[in-house]
This record gives sequence, structure tokens and C-alpha cells, in this order.
Amino acid sequence: MRMLIDGEWVDSSDGAADAIRDKATGELIDTAPRGTAADAARAVAAAQHGWSAMAAMPSHRRAAAIQNAADAIERDREELGRLLARENGKTLRETRSELDAAVRIFRGYAEEAKRVFGRTTPLDSVPGQEDSVALTLRQPRGVIAAIVPFNYPAELWAHKVAAGLAAGNAVITKPPEECPLTIGRIAALLEQAGLPRAAHQMVTGTGEEVGATLVRAAGVHMVSMTGSTEAGRQILRDAAPSLKKVHLELGGNDASIVCEDAELDKVADALVRGRFTSGNGQICCAVKRVLVDRRIFEPLLAALVEKTRPLKLGHPLAPDTDVGPLISEQAAQKVEAQVAQAVAQGATVVTGGRRRGAFFEPTVLTDLPADSAALQEEIFGPVLPLLPFDGFDEALRIANLSPYGLQAAIFTRDLSRVMQAFRTLQVGTVVVNHSTAIRLENLPFGGTKLSGNAREGLHETLLDMTEEKTLLMSGVLAQ
Ligand code: NAD
Repeated sequence: MRMLIDGEWVDSSDGAADAIRDKATGELIDTAPRGTAADAARAVAAAQHGWSAMAAMPSHRRAAAIQNAADAIERDREELGRLLARENGKTLRETRSELDAAVRIFRGYAEEAKRVFGRTTPLDSVPGQEDSVALTLRQPRGVIAAIVPFNYPAELWAHKVAAGLAAGNAVITKPPEECPLTIGRIAALLEQAGLPRAAHQMVTGTGEEVGATLVRAAGVHMVSMTGSTEAGRQILRDAAPSLKKVHLELGGNDASIVCEDAELDKVADALVRGRFTSGNGQICCAVKRVLVDRRIFEPLLAALVEKTRPLKLGHPLAPDTDVGPLISEQAAQKVEAQVAQAVAQGATVVTGGRRRGAFFEPTVLTDLPADSAALQEEIFGPVLPLLPFDGFDEALRIANLSPYGLQAAIFTRDLSRVMQAFRTLQVGTVVVNHSTAIRLENLPFGGTKLSGNAREGLHETLLDMTEEKTLLMSGVLAQ
């Protein structure tokens, strides 16, 4: 693949490139340029023209271009889904549904592009301003850097790029190093959709070089990044001198609370899907801790183990694969080390626990001490720790102990518990009777504490990517 800078498909300025491999077999799929700071700076310079052209484009034309891109993604869904499965390791079932989400997000922003409303304010509440009125207009921020993680690259990027363009900005995309190819293919579809030159550009390469250059650049007016908390902190530090807006969607350690009145078989299905068979366990809002009423701990554990043991590890394109490889062997080694540490602290591996290359078996852990690192840190792989609780207040207290606060789930039929959880849990979303591994594009998604500083969703993000400007008209209503 090549990068897209100022309307041209180019290699890195120093010719460096990285191999992008099939994550299950190691087979070479393609190479991606390892962009340099100079490449990123060139994109920032070109984006200033892209921004002016976008801001001058009426919203009905911006909407039409985004709609065209959505139609093209939908047309190429199968081919894109196969490419994403190979470069990322998720099953084809999963990557198809990710592309469907990307299509919906592009379509959603095509509609939202036409609804960027300001407001009119009569000023007669202020003595002396009885004949004055003000109006506000939402204008594009300018140039947006869209920095994307590996786990759901097409979907998470769609939120940033479609929103940025819908609001009339220029967007520079920094795809994930591990799997940039699908974004590259969609970027080519976007190029044919009817946007001005340099409205969208894409610079591949590392976060430390390309990403950091974009974050620090005076010509970038907003950074929207999804990724790890550690990278998010660095981005905030790098962006501080320019005071640009920084939107961060970061890690999670989501708790699912299972009450004694829940339907155990359905809960077990939801937890297996939410931890093992979605994203191979690599989801920010995956089920990372399960808190279970002690009275149903043993039957739920038995149901979970029964549904986990038959899960099949395999190539993401094989129709009978339930769980594919993690993004790299190092990622699987990290999960292996986190499980070993939990075991050293007293945890029991009820099923799974072994690594083979980049594959990690779906693993159920019990007997974790309350201060175990596995309950505090994010484990980015198919590992499900189960803890008993005595009393609902204790469950809520344990759920809030995490330094993260993305989503939480509660399985119960008791509405008063639902409302207590909704009031008490320090998270962005409380999900009822479904695992935490759910994100719908028309809801505000995002977390508290170390999970981020913003909400992303069709309506919220469009507003975030505009700046409200006020026209104060003094005395204009006087007769
Ligand atoms: P990562 O932080 O390693 O990388 C994410 C992106 O940031 C990459 O494109 C990377 O190159 C870039 N980056 C890294 N350091 C940078 C820097 N200093 N300056 C600029 N850019 C930089 O994350 P990852 O391993 O790709 O993704 C996994 C993490 O993402 C997990 O922690 C997961 O929970 C989180 N995540 C969060 C959400 C959410 O919506 N909250 C969604 C998906 C993933």
C-alpha cells in the first residue's frame, strides 16, 4: 500500500516500509510505508488547502460525498472483510459486521452533515440589551488528526473521519501500524467519492513519529485518538503547548454484575460472546471482570466452562473458527504473563490458560485476590476473571474500584437495582441484560477516569468537530 498525501499515493520519504502479515499464518499480505516526520509535516501543510476547500463546500455536497463512500464500502464489503480478517486476526463474521457498522456510521454522518445547527438568543434578559439578539453558527475546527487503534480499525476510524468531513474539516488519518491495509483501501474509495484535494490524507507509520508529529503540529486543530491510556497521556502532553482540542477514547476494565435473578444460560452466552468470540478478546469494552452473586457462582461458572471449552481457535477465514489469533505474538505473550502473575497471586485457571504463537486459549480464572493486578489492569485478550460478591452494594463498590470507567453491565430483572447501578457506577454507559461489549453509533460512547475524556457518537462528535461562533447584534430590534 501507499500513503495518501496531497492527493498523491506515495511511499515514505526515506523509502522505509513495514511488512503487514496474516496474523494467523505470518504470510506476507502487503507492505505499508513507514512514514517520517517530514511526510506528516507535508500532509499538515497540504491540509490547510483541504480545510479551506471543505469549509467552502456546501453541506449537501459533503453529505453526498460521504454517502458515496458508504455505498462503495458496502459494495466492497466482502473483499474488505477478508482483508481485515487476515491483517487483524478477527473472524470473517466479525469483520463483516465491523464493515456494516462502518457503512452505517458513514451514512449517519452524511445525514448529520445537514443538521449542524446553531441557535438564536434574544438578549432582553440583560438590562440595556432589550433590543439586541445573537445568533451562533458552528464552523469547522480546521484540520483533524484521526489516530486509530488496531482492534476495530474500520469502525473506529469511521467515527473520526466521517464526522470530521461532515463538519467541513480536513482530516489526516494515522492508521494502526499492525493493520493499516483496510483503512488504506477505504481511503481509496473516499478519494473517488467527490471530496476536494487533501480533504482527506493518510500517513502510515509509528505513533511515536507520525502520530506525535501530527499531535504537535500547529496546523492540526484537533486530535481524535482511540487507543491505550498510556498513549493518550503522551498525546495530552504533546498537545498541551498548542492547547488544541484532544478527544481520547482509551482502555477499559469493564465489570459485568450478575444478580441471582438473572437467566444463567443467557448470561453465560452473553459473557462468552462479550469476552471470547468478539474481537478475540481485544475490545476496550469487553467483559474484563465478572462479579457474581455468591448464591449462583457455581452454576454460572459451570455454564461458562461448558460453553468455553468447545470454542475453536483457528484461522479467521475458516468458517468454524470461534477465536482467531491476537494481533501479535508479543500481545499473546503479554496476556500469558498477566495470567501467570494472577496465578502466582492465588488465582485458579479453570479452563484455558495456554498460548500457541499469537493464539491464546479462552481462559476462565477464579480465586483472584481483590488486589490482584488482573482486576486493576486491562488484560487485552480472551481472559475472563470471575469473582463472587455478597450483596448488591458490595458488587457496586467492587465495580467502582477500577481506575478505568468505560462501561459496566448488570444482569437482573429488578428495575430498582438497575437504577441504583445507573446512579452509582462511575462509567460512561451502564448496559442492562447484555454484556459490556456493545457500542451503537447513535449513542454517546466513552468513559470516565482512565478510560478517556470525551463521548463519541453521531451527534456528539459532529458538534465536537465544530467551533461555535457568536454574532451579537446590539440594538438591531429597535423600532
Ligand atoms: P495504542 O495506544 O498502542 O495505539 C493506538 C494508536 O495511537 C496507534 O495508531 C498508535 O500508532 C498511536 N500512538 C501511539 N502512541 C502515540 C503518540 N505518542 N502520539 C500519537 N499517536 C500515538 O493502542 P492499540 O494497542 O492500537 O489499541 C489497544 C488499546 O486501545 C486498548 O487499551 C483498548 O482498550 C483501547 N481502545 C479503546 C477504545 C475506546 O473507544 N475507548 C476502542 C478500542 C480500543
